[in-house]
Amino acid sequence: MSVSVVKIVGPSYCGSTALGCAMNTGEGFFFGSEIYRQLKKFREEAKDGRFSSCDFCGPSCEYWSSDLHATLRNLEVDSLAEVYELLAARHPEITVIVDGSKSTPLPDENPDFIVVPTKHPVRLLASHIYNRRTRFGIDSEQLNVVGQLLEESWDEHQRTVARAANGFLKSYRDIFALCAEAHVFRSDEAHKDGFQAFRELEEYLGVSRGTFDPESFSRVPSHTIGGNRVPIWLTKNASGQSIPNNPRFEYYSSSSSLGDWKLDDKFEHVFRPPTLDAISSLPAYQALCELLDYDARPPAHSRSIPS
Ligand SMILES: [Zn+2]
Repeated sequence: MSVSVVKIVGPSYCGSTALGCAMNTGEGFFFGSEIYRQLKKFREEAKDGRFSSCDFCGPSCEYWSSDLHATLRNLEVDSLAEVYELLAARHPEITVIVDGSKSTPLPDENPDFIVVPTKHPVRLLASHIYNRRTRFGIDSEQLNVVGQLLEESWDEHQRTVARAANGFLKSYRDIFALCAEAHVFRSDEAHKDGFQAFRELEEYLGVSRGTFDPESFSRVPSHTIGGNRVPIWLTKNASGQSIPNNPRFEYYSSSSSLGDWKLDDKFEHVFRPPTLDAISSLPAYQALCELLDYDARPPAHSRSIPS
């Protein structure tokens, strides 16, 4: 293949979109997010055959262009490797494609590098629960309200939270079983020590130190198709485009950050201390902490980090 491929593999909420956007600042790096959305099988099953358009440009993207889509359609492309080739052939400036498709590589895929983002399990669970709050009968977008209602009706929800912890445990076990050589990237600790985790990632990828600029990734648009919207909103905001007015973005705007690199501390609002205690005693949660090598105690209050 004419380009190198970095595959980001992890469950939802692991921080893959922000990581990809940060890698997109590297010269020659192109982060396309969920590239599997261009495959014939996905389009036919989930999109009635239609292509997902670029989150940043909309339908008139120079990368996910109508010309590329026509070719993908005519050739009935159903393998990621072919999408990478066709994209790279049109854009010789791309030397590394970062694919955040997240699922474990299929046997016919052969990415040059695999990066597995992790976060402390309470952060993964907080995002999972918050995004499914309506299924918990919680009809509020406010994090504190979700936290209060979750605490008040914990007995009712305990089993669902345990199931979610089991889901993350199974995902990461499968990933580590299939991607033994992968580079683990702790996305919730990546800002520490001057973004040391990014320096280690650069070393793993064999690129020069300082290639990635996580602190101001919004200056370089990522032409993503799918994934967490917040990094995309940040980029649109930085380029003067309008962004939605919703509590989620307001929360992120106010959360601790180092530049564009936001710290995910939703768990502090979604899980009050009694809920955290209850979660800490779930066996699946404990096994997940052990697998990901995190202390079972919830992380210290993150607002102490300089912003
Ligand atoms: Zn675009």
